[in-house]
Amino acid sequence: MNGIGVAPGIALAKPLILDGPLSPVRISCTDPSAELVLLEQLRQRSIDKMNDTIERVERQYGPKESEVFEAQLLLLDNDELWDDAAAGVKDGKCAQWAFSEAIKAREEMFAQLDNAYLQERSADLRDLEQLVLSLAQHSGADCREGLEVILVGSEVPPSRLTDSSLGTVVGAVMEQGGATSHAAILANMLGIPCLIGAAGILEAAKQASLLLIDGDNGSILLDPDEESCERAKQAAAALRLEQEKDASFIGKPSRSKDGAAIGLQCNIASPEDAESVIQCDGEGVGLLRSEFLYLGRDAAPSEEEQFRAYTRITSVLGNRPLIIRTLDIGGDKQTDYIHIGPEENPFLGCRAIRYCLKHPELFLVQLRAILRAGALGNVLMMFPMIAVPEELTQALAYVRQAKEELAAEGVPFDENMKIGMMVEIPSAALMAETFAQQVDFFSIGTNDLTQYLFSADRGNPQLSHLNDPFAPVLLRTIEDVVSKAHKAGIFVDICGQAGQEELLLPLWLAMGIDALSVSSKRLLRLRRRLSFLQLPDCKQLLHRALSLQTAAEVRALLTEYASL
Ligand code: PEP
Ligand code: MG
Repeated sequence: MNGIGVAPGIALAKPLILDGPLSPVRISCTDPSAELVLLEQLRQRSIDKMNDTIERVERQYGPKESEVFEAQLLLLDNDELWDDAAAGVKDGKCAQWAFSEAIKAREEMFAQLDNAYLQERSADLRDLEQLVLSLAQHSGADCREGLEVILVGSEVPPSRLTDSSLGTVVGAVMEQGGATSHAAILANMLGIPCLIGAAGILEAAKQASLLLIDGDNGSILLDPDEESCERAKQAAAALRLEQEKDASFIGKPSRSKDGAAIGLQCNIASPEDAESVIQCDGEGVGLLRSEFLYLGRDAAPSEEEQFRAYTRITSVLGNRPLIIRTLDIGGDKQTDYIHIGPEENPFLGCRAIRYCLKHPELFLVQLRAILRAGALGNVLMMFPMIAVPEELTQALAYVRQAKEELAAEGVPFDENMKIGMMVEIPSAALMAETFAQQVDFFSIGTNDLTQYLFSADRGNPQLSHLNDPFAPVLLRTIEDVVSKAHKAGIFVDICGQAGQEELLLPLWLAMGIDALSVSSKRLLRLRRRLSFLQLPDCKQLLHRALSLQTAAEVRALLTEYASL
């Protein structure tokens, strides 16, 4: 079976099916005074229990891990919530029924909001309801201390992940769930593999005595054979050890053994992802793919909506930089209300900056929102898919226009925002010295740069041998761009997937790349690897790599170096 991996790692253990949620006992009562006392007791006991959980999680795992429960405590210890429940009691409902209704009213309110983050907070409300109902109904789970279990449920509430009465939770699989649900965030922080969207797992797991789950690729094996179990056990133990070592690099600088620095930032695709930057101690966001605002809807987002989304991210990032990439629509990212028209080759078509320059009414809205967000946070902007200098000149003219409009309206914005461009088309790489005169930074998009260098669709699995980040021609192109950028005095990052390839890290360091923007799950591994590297060795390695002819030769050289 398969799900979607949202927290990495491998787990092999007995499935523990979480029973369906408790329902409130619905008793009408004529004398509310006794029920009001009961309600007050439930409030006190549930808050005490939550404080215990916070203390235990903090002791066992650390203060960051207990934040999920701190957030739940805020929802729980809320006068309005209990006042609403008390009003229900005065209307003749018993305490647990009235509390349940008060929770449901909030849940409905969250569900109606056009905000995925708040919608997923509904799961926290349901978790709180279960906590109070279990106290009211005195139902505790059997004590299974010491037994390793994988929790299986329609949803797995965060509180269950650290509930020692269930046993030692080593994994979680949900039929539903969201990538940004608190359970997924917490599982990541605790290093527990977690899968969501595993349709049918509840029924299937009831028949199985062992589950083997992989939080990286989302695979689930029911009652695996002995050989798979042995392999999984070894892999899981090795992985856990590695993760612990990676985590010890939180709070450390991103420097090589001999002190050479390379910034480590995160790629994100929505405001919800901003939390993960903090969790992995990222130094900022090197690429916000702003398409999240435009896809899966009927009309373009307004300036206000965009401004709110960007500032929600800056409020999480604090002073860390946020590089917002303007709309990169087209290619494999299509939406109905943006009519690009039928194209024979969408990846070579009217996409990204090409489309925006033809539709200034759409482009200006985004530019204004980004400039405004810059007044409240450390925001930079960059343009995707720049191919010729005229495009950059035009895009910069629109930025000037947006600034003039905002200034005339008296709306605050960042007058001095740094503006960069993606280098992801070979023509831009070849003319990098020209482009470098007009921008503050480059961000190399190795995903597209590779596909356009080799004319090989990056989404076609039959061509993956051509889309190879170890290809010497790609490395030579990147080295050339870096040296041209630095000659012009601007900084240069990599935000494509090649930047997070551990084996290539020595080469990026040797080239003098200023920062890598990577998945939050890879960041600490790179920081740890960096701490073993020495700049002179890396320079020698780069020299040798660039003299090779094939990607296989480069990979072999770097694999050998990594094993030394
Ligand atoms: C790239 O092309 O490398 C890149 C980072 O952009 P995207 O993957 O969004 O095209
Ligand atoms: Mg790209």
